[in-house]
Amino acid sequence: MNTKDPDNDHEDGPIPEISRVKIIELIMLLRSNGIRDTRVLAAIERVPRQLFINPAFAHQAYADHALPIECGQTISQPYVVAYMSELLNVNDRHKVLEIGTGSGYQTAVLSHLARRVYSIERYRTLSKDAETRLQSLRLSNITTMTGDGIEGWPAQAPFDRIIVTAAAEHIPDTLMDQLKLEGIMVIPVGKSGGTQHIIRVTRGKEDFKFEKLHEVRFVPLVPGKAQQL
Ligand code: SAH
Repeated sequence: MNTKDPDNDHEDGPIPEISRVKIIELIMLLRSNGIRDTRVLAAIERVPRQLFINPAFAHQAYADHALPIECGQTISQPYVVAYMSELLNVNDRHKVLEIGTGSGYQTAVLSHLARRVYSIERYRTLSKDAETRLQSLRLSNITTMTGDGIEGWPAQAPFDRIIVTAAAEHIPDTLMDQLKLEGIMVIPVGKSGGTQHIIRVTRGKEDFKFEKLHEVRFVPLVPGKAQQL
């Protein structure tokens, strides 16, 4: 039996008209707030954010703020997704590691920019739901895994780019080690519940360069695979 709800089947058809208008408004807002990278803006334009949120918040799908998702986590604010993607300076030759799949929204945006995206989430429920969504959008250059992102993904290392979408108190050495020479990592650093800043780490021949950038607020990076599903 085919249990698919035709109203929920976004696999082939275009995004509904109402969303198109809202996406364009969001793109204009992101531009006016300083996002200049046209590849990033085009990638955001291609991802229907309403598919990544609880239907109860559908009317806020293209508002520029974070929203709650399952397991007490959040889908990031579109501006922060755009800003971090811009800082990452990803191109279609890059292999990207993402820590904190959450809803999979940032993953979907990155999949339009990168050659391949590996994404780790500590909650199995979130990881599986994100995988289903990403597959329904036919984004075939993504591999997801449930696990502890602090360990990185040694079997696939090194990476051209690493993005962490949960706040770390310290930048994990394991992730620095898995960054290629000339590679870039973007990670929010600071106490959970307190002030965090986006840090851009660039790996040079001799050492790492650290730039402290925008103030942000993320859910914490928590060690270990979640016990709760
Ligand atoms: N980019 C996501 C943001 C999700 S919030 C989105 O836009 O939807 C951050 C996510 O990081 C949460 O889902 C949380 O469970 C996850 N996380 C926290 N610590 C982690 C860890 N050590 N390994 C993997 N995922 C982690």
